[in-house]
Amino acid sequence: MLPVLDLRGRPLSLRDLRGALPRAEFDVEAALSAVAPICDDVRLRGSQALLDAAERFDRVRPSSLRVPAAVLSRALTELDPAVRRALEESIRRARLVHADQRRSDKVTVVASGGTVTERWVPVDRVGLYVPGGLAVYPSSVVMNVVPAQIAGVGSLAVASPPQVDHDGWPHPTILAACALLGVDEVYAMGGAQAIAGFAHGFEGCDPVTLVTGPGNIYVAAAKRLLKGLIGIDAEAGPTEIAILADATADAGHVAADLISQAEHDPLAASVLVTDSVELAGAVGSELASRVVATKHVERVTSALTGRQSAVVLVDDLDAGLAVVNAYAAEHLEIQTADAAAVAARVRNAGAVFVGPWSPVSLGDYCAGSNHVLPTGGSAVHSSGLSVQSFLRGIHVVDYSEAALREVGAHVVTLARSEDLPGHGDAVIARLPELG
Ligand code: NAD
Repeated sequence: MLPVLDLRGRPLSLRDLRGALPRAEFDVEAALSAVAPICDDVRLRGSQALLDAAERFDRVRPSSLRVPAAVLSRALTELDPAVRRALEESIRRARLVHADQRRSDKVTVVASGGTVTERWVPVDRVGLYVPGGLAVYPSSVVMNVVPAQIAGVGSLAVASPPQVDHDGWPHPTILAACALLGVDEVYAMGGAQAIAGFAHGFEGCDPVTLVTGPGNIYVAAAKRLLKGLIGIDAEAGPTEIAILADATADAGHVAADLISQAEHDPLAASVLVTDSVELAGAVGSELASRVVATKHVERVTSALTGRQSAVVLVDDLDAGLAVVNAYAAEHLEIQTADAAAVAARVRNAGAVFVGPWSPVSLGDYCAGSNHVLPTGGSAVHSSGLSVQSFLRGIHVVDYSEAALREVGAHVVTLARSEDLPGHGDAVIARLPELG
């Protein structure tokens, strides 16, 4: 079922590898022209444009964009108790991990009487996007809200697409997750228009300074278009799983994990990298029997047979590591002998799942780690969502007269060397002996 890419016996440079490895045709640049008029309309017409876009793209016009408090509390009251317990455990574990990410302010004494403090300050207001097109993601409420709250963000709003089956409100489990986390500002808006609504603000909704959260190509394109006006997190597009496995891996586990991510989206990528032809064959057989039995068989089949998915055959684990480091998957599983040692050699991935008992779906919901992760190879330079995503480090410079006197001559010299004498004069105004 998975296309095969045989790299055995082919010494490949990083450049060759990047060209050879499969990627989804997820052309955000092309989507920009589709989302630009939507975003402009929201800027010009505010809530009317958002309601019109809901009707056009989500096939329902919500009775208001802001979800009323009564609808939020009803969603929590009516939440299945087992789902509530699972969400509470997901929140508890996410809080444990994210609480450890909080950086404390650091004061560096540069000279006697001269300090530079790095002060971590949360952004004032964030817009958190929770997808709700092909699937609904209450887990993404947890993954967005928990780090924002731990960072200390004062004002926090959630948006998720209106659902035709739920009176135009976002999915009730999403609303219940918001209520569980104490979020009361929730909007029924999705896609590019939601990002524009957050960026420009509209009647009853102040603009935000940062938008985070995963989404489809239209969400990603709107974030790219509006970046600058707002801050954004890394681009988190269609999901990806890469599995580096050797002959010791369980073919059934590998196949189940490849399917688990393929069910997100026809553009999702599932890539197996292995030095074992036998394992590749066994995974192929497992896929053949499991895919037909899975619920979202069409979506899974499109994803697994698409150009973004493959079995990549390599000579050995070293070559496998070169491949996965070049691919920089959003999710990377290591299913090899001595998996921890192999995982320690991974340099590029959104998140790494080590050994047979750490499937990606654990991380999607309940590992405590964040599931909003960089896709499309952007893990080479970006990280997943964390407390840090919501903070800015402000340098606070505090020098006494004596500390300035100690270094003043150097400032004047450097200012003159840059032909910016006014800079030096600002020091000389305080310390005339340097003139
Ligand atoms: P979504 O909420 O991102 O998108 C739905 C919205 O897209 C709709 O509300 C609609 O307004 C808009 N839309 C649909 N068709 C359109 C069109 N033709 N033109 C303009 N706008 C249109 O939900 P989704 O589609 O299910 O996508 C969610 C994505 O998020 C999936 O690809 C999934 O893999 C990904 N995801 C990624 C992560 C991660 O961390 N990388 C986590 C969870 C989900």
